[in-house]
Amino acid sequence: MTIRLSKSKLIAFRQCPKRLWLEIHRPDLKLDDASAQSRFDTGYRIGDLAQSQHPDGVLIAPDNNLTNALRETENYLSSPDRKVLFEATFQAEGILVRADLLIPTTVGWHMVEVKSSTTVKDYHIEDAAIQSWVAKKAGLTLAKTSVQVVDSKWTYPGGNDYSGLMKLLAVDEYIAPLQTEVPKWLADAQAVAGGSEPVVKVGAQCNSPFACGFQNYCESLTKPAQFPISSLPMLHHAKRKSYEVAGYLDIRDVPFEELSAKQQRVARATINNEIFFEPLTEVEKQTVAGTRYYLDFETISFVIPIWAGTRPYQQVPFQWSCHVERPDNSLSHEMFLDLTGGDPSRAFAESLVSALGKSGPIIVYNQAFEKRIIRELANRYPDLAPGLNALLSRVVDLLPLANAHFYHPSMKGSWSLKAVLPAIAPELDYANLEEVADGLGAQTAFVEAIHQETPLERKAILEKALCEYCTRDTFAMVKILRYFCREPRQ
Ligand code: SF4
Repeated sequence: MTIRLSKSKLIAFRQCPKRLWLEIHRPDLKLDDASAQSRFDTGYRIGDLAQSQHPDGVLIAPDNNLTNALRETENYLSSPDRKVLFEATFQAEGILVRADLLIPTTVGWHMVEVKSSTTVKDYHIEDAAIQSWVAKKAGLTLAKTSVQVVDSKWTYPGGNDYSGLMKLLAVDEYIAPLQTEVPKWLADAQAVAGGSEPVVKVGAQCNSPFACGFQNYCESLTKPAQFPISSLPMLHHAKRKSYEVAGYLDIRDVPFEELSAKQQRVARATINNEIFFEPLTEVEKQTVAGTRYYLDFETISFVIPIWAGTRPYQQVPFQWSCHVERPDNSLSHEMFLDLTGGDPSRAFAESLVSALGKSGPIIVYNQAFEKRIIRELANRYPDLAPGLNALLSRVVDLLPLANAHFYHPSMKGSWSLKAVLPAIAPELDYANLEEVADGLGAQTAFVEAIHQETPLERKAILEKALCEYCTRDTFAMVKILRYFCREPRQ
């Protein structure tokens, strides 16, 4: 019996045969993934926008009934009045696909897959190859296949004019060699779908290209390693895969000499359950001498920009927190947060320059982020550029200091602020923040808070949570640097 598969099922098979089998036979084992949901939501918004650029286009089977979709597609394709079709539907060899856009040309049809990313990825090529193979098998005269992606260099001019947001990239030359592969994928996928549960070990494929929702289930089938190799820092995808193939699941399995100096340090601390710590040198302490400004930003990015002058996916800052620590150990705190719904950038930049004074180290955690935001603001507001650019040379990055001087087994190979802080000051663990406990939570809270329909009481709760979260970030840096300096002030 031929099992009918959707394109998404075939793509699931390309990630992992077991994932396809579980999707069909045990969907109840799948856990909801917030990032997957957000990816779908973004995809829908971009899909709607792509359709809106073809005002005379026709949506096939708005009721989503696939039998209707196949029949309507056939009718429109044979009609002399050729229109752009949205969600044109094709079926061949037991696989069903729906094309985001089908545009008539003088020599056939131009099929377009709409994606919310800014580049064409390998799995987009496979996706387009499956689409075109099925459509051609179903009898479509296909002249061209493209992927439409978001143009990250485009700037929103305002006035609801999104005509330049997306760009078309032809992919025919990349999908041509895959046309003979698709029927093999399909035959293999159908064999898996009709067979018993495949045996596949948890590995690098579980998060590439997407996080698989069956990870909890699959991990429960194997005895967990006491010291999993996932705790090794800088373990690149290919290396991890080669370790898994070699059967190295526990750090103790990996030949010690194969590890970098940093990985060896982590391996020792993990296996011996000991803390690695070296106080800062006098030279390093000099870089953080004087009045210190501990700084952290929160940003928001929209694939479809809402503020004129911003680009797709541009990280627009809406909040900063700063703890000021003077040489006499006294501490004060300042903050900026704009929940009006307008573009917060200029007020953010002005208040930042005014709060950070003229001298003293500006302590951040992972300087690339804060420096990039400051440079972008300087580019956007030339009149503020001198003040903003003057901040850059004062920035001192706490992350490399943490990397070189501290490791606790609870960090599991991560030096993120959220990993280091609980190891040094457990009472400040982010887990005790309820509403906003990480950057993604801050973005979600911001979007809800600026929404016109959010009640004032709810907005006040979100504002408080955002303040607590960002304040926690900068106070965490105070605690960490004091610990590294072995300073008496606690
Ligand atoms: S968790 Fe990994 S092994 Fe399990 S189905 Fe998903 S991709 Fe396959």
